[in-house]
Amino acid sequence: MKNKTRVRFAPSPTGFMHIGNFRSALYDYLFAVHTGGDFILRIEDTDKKRFVEGAVESLLKTLDWAGLEYDEGVFQTTEIKDDNTNVIESKNYPGVLEVGEFGPYIQSEKLEVYKKYAEQLVKDGHAYYCFCEPERLEEMRAEQAAEKRPPIYDRYCLNHVTPDEINAKLKENCSYTIRLKIPKDETLEFEDAVRGKVKFETNLVDDQVLLKSDGFPTYHLANVIDDHDMQITHVIRGEEWLSSTPKHLLLYRFFGWTPPIFAHLPLLLNADKSKLSKRQGDVAVEDYIKKGYLKEAIINFVAFLGWNPGNGETQEIFTLSELADKFDMTHVHKGGAVFDIKKLDWINAQWIKKISILDLYQRSLEFLETKDFYLNAPAEKKAEKYVKKVLSVERARLLKLDEVGEDAKFFFKTALHYDTELLRWKECEDFETKKSLQLSKETLEGMADVDFEFDPENATNEALQRIMQTFMQVAEKNFTDEDGKTDRGQLLWPLRVALTGEQWSPSPFEVAQILGKAESLERLDKAIQKLN
Ligand code: GLU
Repeated sequence: MKNKTRVRFAPSPTGFMHIGNFRSALYDYLFAVHTGGDFILRIEDTDKKRFVEGAVESLLKTLDWAGLEYDEGVFQTTEIKDDNTNVIESKNYPGVLEVGEFGPYIQSEKLEVYKKYAEQLVKDGHAYYCFCEPERLEEMRAEQAAEKRPPIYDRYCLNHVTPDEINAKLKENCSYTIRLKIPKDETLEFEDAVRGKVKFETNLVDDQVLLKSDGFPTYHLANVIDDHDMQITHVIRGEEWLSSTPKHLLLYRFFGWTPPIFAHLPLLLNADKSKLSKRQGDVAVEDYIKKGYLKEAIINFVAFLGWNPGNGETQEIFTLSELADKFDMTHVHKGGAVFDIKKLDWINAQWIKKISILDLYQRSLEFLETKDFYLNAPAEKKAEKYVKKVLSVERARLLKLDEVGEDAKFFFKTALHYDTELLRWKECEDFETKKSLQLSKETLEGMADVDFEFDPENATNEALQRIMQTFMQVAEKNFTDEDGKTDRGQLLWPLRVALTGEQWSPSPFEVAQILGKAESLERLDKAIQKLN
């Protein structure tokens, strides 16, 4: 039987979740689901300088929001699938749970283990103590920079500190680090699942610090030990970690462990092909959520940042489970992936059209509730059914939820303010405009109340067809010239402006139907008064 794949997402709690990190999490998830494997969440919090309060909790929230369910690791809530699994409360993060048999899943809770392994490497001759003070290291680096040499530790402590001196210094509790002893003159080679054969010259690799002077491991040591302990089969991560891989491979070799399969995902780029950065736009998932991008759209978009389904597939809109069905490593690209915000907008617009009206309404509320035109609207214009009707029309043009209602304010107002001139169609005289508005009024008055009723959650809207046909017939009858050409604008333009007060808006039929017969007539009366 083939071994189950085990994939982990191993973020460091350094702030909001970067889009690049989110992509790693998504690909981890998709690969795990696609291969029927396990998905594990591990927290890599060994860099105390970069730690941000609340970042662990916010990471958990983002994964939960996206629906990237994992089987094992660190959880925020008690929503644990299997009652029999080991569940412990985290020592360092109260309220956070660790679930699974390969814990701790939070690195700051495993310091003793890392230290033991680091000392083992020293004993085996693969690592050494370094007592260099930060000042000395700084001087060394400055010299190397001045001479344009790579910033590599000069092995002073390996070559000049005797075993007796080491023991004495350890006894005196001198501050030290443990460094990996990179073998010289070797070419390290490995097969990357995305990039194929990758080679590194060991002479260019630094003697990486494995254990820091504060007793914490560096990322490299903890990452390798945990991937081994947790029986990870595939490490899927951003290209920025590629240069660390030779160090990791050596650690696997020195510990006598089999390395996992590595897959390094392409860099994310700005439109100008520079590395994706805050300076050119938002990089945190949270920023996009705040702007009203739907999670389905963000997932859909991010999935395509470095992957496509191949096989001549032209479909562009995919649900998370459809993506998991299709996802495979062979279609991950090597080249950088450009973050094209226009594409995200387009995908978001598709998703806004795709979800149910009820769903759209529920997700729009938090945005509407920050807007004055909504807050100041009378109760009947904030009623669920009314807002759903507005959304059923507005969503055809909506790109992001933070724009919700912005082009539809006239639906929420009790009085419209617009320039009388706006009512004029082409070269029409005022009396002609007035006549046209009168005609619209009579037409509306003659229509049945049921024509203004529709269920916004139901796509078929026959009543709207009736309103439209009625007006088209009136236009034909009244505004057709001798050549048989009908100038519909003469009827519909003043009507639409009277109902909306806007130069651009949805069709007057849709607006009238939502406003209802009484309010539409009222707005027509006001327009007629303006012309008096
Ligand atoms: N803790 C690393 C990060 O923050 C994990 C890198 C890896 O997946 O090995 O991205």
